[in-house]
Parts: sequence; C-alpha cells; structure tokens
Amino acid sequence: EKRNPGESEFHQAVEEVARDVMPFVADHEAYQQEGILERMTEPDRIVIFRVCWVDDKGHVRANRGYRVQFNQAIGPYKGGLRFHPSVNLSILKFLGFEQIFKNSLTSLPVGGAKGGANFNPKGKSDREVMRFCQAFMMELHRHIGPDVDVPAGDIGVGSREIGYLYGQYKRLANTHTGAITGKSIDFGGSHVRKEATGYGCVFFVENMLNHVSDGLEGKTCVVSGSGNVAIYTAEKLISKGAKVVTLSDSDGFIYDENGIDDEKLAWVIKLKMERRGRIREFAEEFGVEYIAGKGPWAVPCDLAFPSATQNEISEEDAKTLVKNGLQGLGEGANMPVERSAVKVFQNAEVLYAPGKAANAGGVAVSAMEMTQNSMRLSWSRDELESKLQGVMKNIHDNCVTYGSSEQNSKKVNYVKGANIAGFKRVADAMVAYGVT
Ligand code: NDP
Repeated sequence: EKRNPGESEFHQAVEEVARDVMPFVADHEAYQQEGILERMTEPDRIVIFRVCWVDDKGHVRANRGYRVQFNQAIGPYKGGLRFHPSVNLSILKFLGFEQIFKNSLTSLPVGGAKGGANFNPKGKSDREVMRFCQAFMMELHRHIGPDVDVPAGDIGVGSREIGYLYGQYKRLANTHTGAITGKSIDFGGSHVRKEATGYGCVFFVENMLNHVSDGLEGKTCVVSGSGNVAIYTAEKLISKGAKVVTLSDSDGFIYDENGIDDEKLAWVIKLKMERRGRIREFAEEFGVEYIAGKGPWAVPCDLAFPSATQNEISEEDAKTLVKNGLQGLGEGANMPVERSAVKVFQNAEVLYAPGKAANAGGVAVSAMEMTQNSMRLSWSRDELESKLQGVMKNIHDNCVTYGSSEQNSKKVNYVKGANIAGFKRVADAMVAYGVT
C-alpha cells in the first residue's frame, strides 16, 4: 500500500498470488534468499505517454497511453492492450502481474506485460479509431518488437484496432515482423487466435469436469459479456452439447431459456463485430427476456463463464449462484470474481478455475502466432485447435499437481495450483539469472 498507493486492483491481484505462493516460498530457500516474490511484484519498466489525435470535428483530443513491461524472465514481454475509459495504472499493473503467471502456465516462452489507454472506442467513427491507434503507436513502437515486447488485443482492441496498430507499426519500423498478435489471417495472423480464449476456457472446464468423472453435455451455462471471449466460449459450449442461456454487455443481459443455438450466435457475431450493436437487440430479434442494469448471475445454472470484465461477480452474486446449484466456473475474463466471492465458491467446493489458468488459451495461441511468424509459415486450423487443447490439458494437470489436497487427489484447489505452477517456472529462471 505504501509503495503503490491507491492501486486497489493491483493489491488484490498480488495478495491473491502471495497467499498461495508464500508457504511454497518458505519451503524453498533459494526463492527466499533471492527475494523472488518481492522482485516479481515490481515491474521491469512502465511507459506512460500522451496520445494526441484529431476527432472528426477537427478538435484535438488527448488521452493517456501505457505499457507495463512486468517480467521477461522466460520470454519477450507479452500481453494485451486495453482501450476503455476505466483504464488506469492500477488496472494495467494487475493485468500485467496476472499475465506473468498465465504466460508461464502455458509452458511457452513468453514474459508478462499489459498496456492500453483510457480511450473509449465506443461511439467513435472508424476514422477516429484509426487516428487514435496511429497516434498511440507513434510512441509505443519504440518499446516493442518481435523479440522485445509483443502486444495483442483485449477489451476494446479487436481485429479492427489491431489492423490499424499493426499498419502503423509496420510503417514506422519498416519491417513486417510478428511484433503484434491477433492480426488478420491475411497479414500474419493465426487460425484459432480469435476463438482461443473462449475455446480454451471451455476445454479447461471440461478437463475439470472429466477429473471428477463428469462432462459438459447437457449442462446449463450462464455466460457474461458478448465480446470476443464470450462469443467463442458460447460457440464451443454449444458444440459440446451444453445449453447457453445468457449473454450480456455493460447495459444488461439476455435470458434465452431454450438456449442460444449456432444460428442465433452467428447473429450475435454480426451484431457485435460488424454493427457494434447492443445485446438488448437480441431480445427484440428473438423475443426473449432482456434484463437491464444487471449481470446474469441470478439465472440458475450448472456452469458459469464470466467473460466480460474484472470484479463482475460480487459475494452476493456468488451466494446466489451457489444456492442455485452451481457446479463449476471458468474465468474467461481476468479477475471477474471479487475476493470475498472466491471464498464463497471455494467453501461450497465449486470447481473454480481462475483466469490465469482458464483464459490462458488466448495468449498460448498468440505465442503460436509468434512462432508461425518467425517461421513464415501458417499452421492449419485443426493443428492449432489440437495444440490449444494440449496446452489447456497441460495447464489443468499442472494445477492438479500443485493444487490437489494430500488426502484426496480429486479435490483440487485450482487457484493455488495455478499460482504455484505459474510462479515456479518464472522464479527458477530468475534464480538462475542471479540478481538482475
Ligand atoms: P471485448 O471488448 O471483445 O468484450 C468485452 C465484453 O465485456 C463486452 O460485451 C462489454 O460490453 C463487456 N464489458 C466490458 N466492460 C464491462 C463492464 N465494466 N461491465 C459490464 N460489461 C462490460 O473484450 P474481450 O472479450 O477480449 O475480453 C473480455 C475479458 O476477457 C477481459 O477481462 C479480458 O481481459 C479477458 N481476456 C481476453 C482475452 C482475449 O484473448 N481477448 C485473453 C484473456 C483474457 P460493452 O460492449 O457494453 O462494453
């Protein structure tokens, strides 16, 4: 608190990791001696910069841009860019810190970073978004590169923004390299990248269910959000025979009692990705219920997939979910569950998958995009989906190794497992490098 005043999200993320990792550190003298945990909570560097751009009316606008380069012990910095009015240093430090462990869990060579700006793409014209992205990259290009730092998308940064950002990077750096991931297939993107976070989260939850001799078929699922992660979570759940009954955005949620099918989901993709419309329109189109101003957590379900934003499930929401018979939860979003709510799930023995494990599929396929760019090759969709499945299974099994109770191997604390497994790989590298 003294060192990072007012950074509540960052404190929350560090506390959550420290709680699980501290006993593990206490058992390993080298980690203690080298002050690994303390060093890990201090970013390698943070760049904060002004982003000036001209809106359609000719007015000059100023936003604040950031890149938090947190840790590069096991590979180049890697993590998304978020464009949202709520973006501040605390949020980006929390996301960058989480990213270290998530990236480590994938077992691929990527370090942790995060960045973005307090720019709101909502309601802006394509040209305004383009001018903002170009102005943002005008500064950021100095700090990134395929072997240095490789940003990707996050909230408010989808394929349109990545196109503008990469176009400007390419122009400024005069190289066509894998310095950004999430690119379109036409210019160096990877198959399965846009689906990877959502698909990966479903694979992870499926692994958890399989571990207790259960499966996804026939489960009723509540999904929040209607962006990249939410849409492909829903798509994979539907293909596995589960029933998805909700989607949401920051205005409210829709409840489709009979389940959203492929056709309706294709409509949502058009609504969100092409028309940039609101989820309320789904209710009007398909004659289902729309509930304004609330998240979908009071809808009875077997499985929950929070896939919108941080702290979207409160303690009270968690109690309602548990009361309604929740069996499992996969965090598609980063830190969507408040700390007190995590406790509610854990006490009720809900199969609870923290974001750093459950949503690591996105960055895993991003790292595969980097590999393909380096090789100047493109792997097939099937090959990538099967690699993604392998990565998620491996993360699951690592969580079991470090998180299962000594008395009963079926009882797994996935939060603890993910924190320790993610920490260990980075910590071992840092010990090997000496004091740096
Ligand atoms: P998108 O911008 O594509 O979608 C975000 C969705 O969440 C939208 O439906 C948005 O609604 C909703 N949302 C955003 N902020 C809020 C809020 N404050 N309250 C309620 N709803 C909100 O982002 P992504 O799908 O890419 O990301 C979603 C989450 O997943 C984030 O936490 C992100 O960090 C995490 N994540 C994403 C990865 C990826 O590969 N994209 C990888 C790993 C994690 P609206 O349109 O109204 O704003």
